[in-house]
Amino acid sequence: MPLSSHLFPTRRHFLNRLGLLGLASALPAGRLFSATGTPVLAAAQPATGTAAVWKNRAPLRPSTFYSLPQGSVRPAGWLKEQLRIQADGLGGHLDEVWADTGPHSGWLGGTGESWERGPYFLDGLVPLAWLLDDARLKEKAQRLIDWTLDRQAPSGMIGPASNDDWWPRMVMLKALTQYQEFTADNRVIPVIDRYLRYQLAQLPLRPLKDWGKFRWQDELLTVVWLYNRTGSSYLLDLAQLLHKQGYDWMGQFKNFQYTQRITAEAIGLAKGRGLEDLALATHGVNNGQAVKTGPVWSLVSGVEADRNAAQRMISELNKYHGLPNGMFSCDEHLAGLDPSQGSELCTVVEYMFSLEQSLAINGDPALGDRLEQLAFNALPGTFSDDMWGHQYNQEPNQVECSLHQKPWTTDGPESNLYGLEPNFGCCTANFHQGWPKFAASLFLLSGAQESAAHDGLVAAVYAPCEVRTTLRGIPVHIVEETGYPFHGAVRFTVNPAAPLAFPMQFRVPQWAAGVTLTVNGRPEPAPMPGSFARIEREWKAGDRVEIVFPMPPRVSRWFHDSVAVERGPLVFSYGIGESWVKLNERGLASDWQVFPTTPWNYALHVDAASPAQSISVSETEVGHAPFTGKHTPVRLAVKARKLDSWRAEDGVANPLPQSPVSSDRPEESITLIPYAAAKLRITAFPQLKS
Ligand SMILES: [Zn+2]
Repeated sequence: MPLSSHLFPTRRHFLNRLGLLGLASALPAGRLFSATGTPVLAAAQPATGTAAVWKNRAPLRPSTFYSLPQGSVRPAGWLKEQLRIQADGLGGHLDEVWADTGPHSGWLGGTGESWERGPYFLDGLVPLAWLLDDARLKEKAQRLIDWTLDRQAPSGMIGPASNDDWWPRMVMLKALTQYQEFTADNRVIPVIDRYLRYQLAQLPLRPLKDWGKFRWQDELLTVVWLYNRTGSSYLLDLAQLLHKQGYDWMGQFKNFQYTQRITAEAIGLAKGRGLEDLALATHGVNNGQAVKTGPVWSLVSGVEADRNAAQRMISELNKYHGLPNGMFSCDEHLAGLDPSQGSELCTVVEYMFSLEQSLAINGDPALGDRLEQLAFNALPGTFSDDMWGHQYNQEPNQVECSLHQKPWTTDGPESNLYGLEPNFGCCTANFHQGWPKFAASLFLLSGAQESAAHDGLVAAVYAPCEVRTTLRGIPVHIVEETGYPFHGAVRFTVNPAAPLAFPMQFRVPQWAAGVTLTVNGRPEPAPMPGSFARIEREWKAGDRVEIVFPMPPRVSRWFHDSVAVERGPLVFSYGIGESWVKLNERGLASDWQVFPTTPWNYALHVDAASPAQSISVSETEVGHAPFTGKHTPVRLAVKARKLDSWRAEDGVANPLPQSPVSSDRPEESITLIPYAAAKLRITAFPQLKS
């Protein structure tokens, strides 16, 4: 978000703030909860070292599902390898390479960057470090955590005194709540409590503005988190005030006006209007964060339309700005349907986080479908294989990554390079949350708000993992083994410490027709696509559930009636030959341009009504790095012809010609690979006349 470089608040006088100190009440350190309200410890007891699940406390409305405490779900198989790649890459070394999160960070008491980058880094570093149980990473995270926890101002304010913007603190709160769940550090809740009391007193005097105004829903998550633990009624007042001062996202999408590509001229960027409402309402990252607004606010409002607002937002974004990688275009404002437009990496990870939170609250399986699309395509597709380089913007039709003039609505020419901080460094600090939070969200808890008697577990999205939790005092261990999303079989082994009756639910994606579900080899009724399949029985150690999702190729339709080929949650691309040319050495990291070495202007011969007839599939083992071009575990073969009239200009594929198209070039068989494995790619193709 380059706009933000204009936005650092002016230095304020710390002592002036202390003058307002009396408005904030502080809890004594060590006393965890305020006396008001009755804690509802609704579900699992921490009998095996796992923390309790805190359900919503009245008058908050119940959620359909609840997040399991951090540490309950741990990645395995290829997903664990992916987190390891992140830890061995920039994700585990950023503070060594980049001054903005290094020792001079304002969030470590230094005079360096004192805004969002320290908290962004920590928000992903905490789950990465603890999910991998990596001592080196935990130590890095602990330094940032300790500085914030141990240096709270007497007023209750947290963070660098040189910058009093509410927004970066919203991010720090997300990091602190995760850290508390992993460690049970008893400093966390009193610090958050004092800070939120301070903020409630301050907001009437110093209201939310710019980024904080448009991202208030992310802070509301922490307000709900703390209310469920303490029951302090001031938190409900704070929730109302955030809503009142925050941007009306539900209103924006009730009558969606931003149906066209938003240009720099339209928002008045050159006139310095980049932080006014029009610019921020059409800003990609803000929209990605906004998707959770309705569901999270519905816990307070109780309004059904709020609870389901995420689906409407996604549908509008998709209709006017949707791309075949699951994203909406935002480079960095909403950019229309052309697959040569880009999407910012911050938007990918923020959209994922919104989907994770929204799915838990309203239980719509379609949100899980979208989450998998982003996690398995757009997220890995925008990193170099070793995760030392990332892009600011990725394109579904990305034929060159270079300094050539690009079609971005408002971004600079570096935006699709793979590097340390192409265009602007927000994504450099913020990308870390993508994989670890996805891993933590694979399983959820189901159950009623007022009772743990019918609590159960929900496989919400699929990837290899282990779950350790307790249900009604009984430790439960689940092992999920799978090559999903490359292969369609998912096996669960359920190991309660003693026989225990509880429901297990399994998300069945909308694309998954003909699913088979067996328990200990015996078939269950065939589940409906777009639902949760539910099995309620007494589970015994060693019980096995197997789901097989048939994954025939599918054809979806995009800009100018172009076609994309999908299979399961993956979208497939033609991988253009790549020549990586180093542009800059950046210490341990480097910036790269990538130039095409092969033609790419293919039109496909596919039968959209019966894709399996024209597309053949070959599968191999899922290795350690399945999203890289060297090891793609699944490939598709399809017939195609070159289309001479479709060319690139300045390194950008021209708008797709209207399909269907004709070509007299010879027919070829071309190979499609998973989107993420093709760093130069065509994903939306013209379709040949049959
Ligand atoms: Zn960014």
